Amino acid sequence: MNRLILLVALVTALACSAAQAAPKIRVLYLDQSVGWRHAPVTRPKNSNGPTLSEIALAEIGARSGAFTVESTQDAREITPEKLKAIDVLVFYTTGELPISPEAWQAIQQWVSAGKGGFVGLHSATDTHWNYSGPGQTYTAFINGRFAGHPWTEGTPVTIQALGAPSPVNKAWPRRFAYAEEIYQYSDYDPAQVRALQALDFTETPLRRPWLVPVTWAREIGKGRLFHTNLGHTPSTWNDPRYRAQLLDAIRWAAHRIPGSAKPNPEEQALWALRSLLAYQGLPKTEVEARIARLAGTDKAWLLQTAARTAALRPLWPAKPENDKRTFEVAYQAVLADVLARSEP
Ligand SMILES: [Zn+2]
Repeated sequence: MNRLILLVALVTALACSAAQAAPKIRVLYLDQSVGWRHAPVTRPKNSNGPTLSEIALAEIGARSGAFTVESTQDAREITPEKLKAIDVLVFYTTGELPISPEAWQAIQQWVSAGKGGFVGLHSATDTHWNYSGPGQTYTAFINGRFAGHPWTEGTPVTIQALGAPSPVNKAWPRRFAYAEEIYQYSDYDPAQVRALQALDFTETPLRRPWLVPVTWAREIGKGRLFHTNLGHTPSTWNDPRYRAQLLDAIRWAAHRIPGSAKPNPEEQALWALRSLLAYQGLPKTEVEARIARLAGTDKAWLLQTAARTAALRPLWPAKPENDKRTFEVAYQAVLADVLARSEP
């Protein structure tokens, strides 16, 4: 028997056994690549069969009984009419998507009116297109744009949860070692989102002196947006913790479970300064003691200094052989201020 038919039979059987009272969330999954095409969104060779991530999402929905998924690799299918028949839009995309101004306006209205939620996966931030309003550009909406990935596939990283435990990151330990491709961002505004997970540079060998958020949540009007950087590597899609987080994120985006998306810029600022001190190579105990002292410092200073660390990122040399002096001067200046402010 055809493998696809077997899969459909399996998914149907699981769906029937997991029937629940609440109506199922209707997910539309867009895994279109206009730019770089990732393995989890690539169709099998010589076949029009489902991608690895399409299969995974269908399984997660069926086993939980929480949602059904329709998958497409053509953004033009997202029309105002289509939005009426779905609850959550999930993007694992790259490049300039063919989304008309009318369609993008409709998506934004659909989210802000609380009619639908948005979930971005991995390269959803490596996605953009020209749009001049009304409302926001896609980059402003998702709150970040891909600006390189120093942590390539297989690079060891440590990911730490920020803030109080949240339903959308409870699937993972508060702190865990992982190996994934991790993005850093331009156009990321900490005041717009609640950062839920970030790289911990006291335990990540490849360090940078700025905040590298991994997961965040946002409220847009009455609607909810969730984004995670995870999902580049095919094996991540088989990790039960990642699968559980996707289920929680889809349920959260559909308003089926609670969870705060209140922006936490001060906590993110402390995390940015923690990155700076760890980059400098201070022992972890000293980093933590200094951050504990900075937690009580003037809020305006904290936010301003974190913004200075974010401004270091574009100064980082594009190639290893490039001159690093401009970066070093700016880095030393902000480091001196943070060290002075965090003295016992
Ligand atoms: Zn990637």
